[in-house]
This record gives sequence, C-alpha cells and structure tokens, in this order.
Amino acid sequence: MKARKKPNEALDRILSIYPRRWTPNREDPFKALIRTILSQNTNWRNEDKAYRRLEEAISVTPNTISAASFTDIADAIHPAGMYNQRSTIIKEVTKKVLALYDGDLTQVLSKPYPEAREELMKLPGVGKKTADVVLLFNAGKLVLPVDRHIARISKRLGLVPSNADYDTIRLTIEGGTAPENYMDAHIKLIQFGRDVCRAIKPRCGICPISDLCSFPTEAVRNKKSPNETESSLKRRKRAE
Ligand code: SF4
Repeated sequence: MKARKKPNEALDRILSIYPRRWTPNREDPFKALIRTILSQNTNWRNEDKAYRRLEEAISVTPNTISAASFTDIADAIHPAGMYNQRSTIIKEVTKKVLALYDGDLTQVLSKPYPEAREELMKLPGVGKKTADVVLLFNAGKLVLPVDRHIARISKRLGLVPSNADYDTIRLTIEGGTAPENYMDAHIKLIQFGRDVCRAIKPRCGICPISDLCSFPTEAVRNKKSPNETESSLKRRKRAE
C-alpha cells in the first residue's frame, strides 16, 4: 500500500501564512446552526447576505422562525440559492429543536463530542460537517470540520486517497496539528483554498507548499498553474 504523506509540515506552513489567530465566537447555537445550513453549497458572501436578511426580516430564534411563513423565509434567504429547499429544512429543523429541546440547543452542546455530534445529526439538514462546525465554534469541542476546500487540498497534497471520506480526511488533518489549533487550521485552510489552491486554476506557481504537493508536478516544477501550462501547450501546438 502506498505510504501517505504526513500533514504536519503543510499545515504548519499554511498556518504561518495568515497571521490572525481565531478564537471561538460562542454565538447562540441555534443561530449558528441556521447560518451553517445556509452555508452549505454556497460561498461565504451569499451565505452572509442571506443570514443578515433573515435576521432583519424575521430574526433568527426558534420562535420567530416557527411563526414565520415558508415564503417569507425563502424570500429572505434568496441570496444563498436553493431557497425553497433551504426554507423547508429551516422550518423542519426549527420544529425539531422546539419539540426536542424547547428551543435550547445548549443542552446538546454540553454533551461529549461523539454524543453531541450524533444527536445534532438527527436534526434535518445536519450532516457531519454542519454538526462539527457548530461543535467547534459554539461548544469549543476539539474537532476540525472538513469543508470542500479542505477536502480538495488534502487530496491534492496526497495526504488522503482521492476517494477518502469525510472522517478519514478529518482524522488525518487533525493528526497534523495540536488540538488548540483546530479552529485556526479550519479557517486558514479554507482561506488557502480560496486564495491559492482554488478548485479551478489552482495557483501552483505561487504556492508555498508546492514542494510538498502530489498534484500537477510538472506545472509545479515549472512554477506555472496547470491551466496556464495546458493553455501554453495548446498555443505551442497550434503554432507548430
Ligand atoms: S501546488 Fe497547487 S495543487 Fe498543490 S497545494 Fe499548492 S496550489 Fe494546491
């Protein structure tokens, strides 16, 4: 079996690129849950816009969301996309939070990580990532949630197999840094995925960890992004 690389050096370097150190915001867990549901499959700007509109139009509490109409919620969260689907999930999750916890999620968050995660994941629209984000940011649990940027970077670096599942990536990345860095690593890896290791046109030519990367080795050696390399090859072919 092919030996996998260790994430420690790559993580150390990525952490050192961005100087700000992040600390938990301990936002109300229900608000955090709704915000995280809005963040699924959309970018940060659209998620933030949708969340602010929802706060302004309805206010994000179990009681106000429960009293609001499906259409008013869908209108408010329009910028996040898939607003009808999300509006249904938001209504359903609110109904459950009121029925099971009387609107107060702090009792779930105070449980040990595996138990709290399992319980959160029984709520509609809450998968592993959403549960882990709420547990890290709002309950200070020692977990490093994996989003699409973190999954992509881990696979390109060769830290995990290309078909690795959520928990394999999470445990690998968690093993690469101290637990007190999990929040910092989560935020900075996402930033790195947006700035450098982009899904389309990764900026391998300026990447500070290109020497550790298994992705487009030729492009990295040439200090060009793979897309630049590909287009220059095509140009050369046309000229021949
Ligand atoms: S070399 Fe390219 S693919 Fe590898 S981590 Fe850097 S930007 Fe991503």
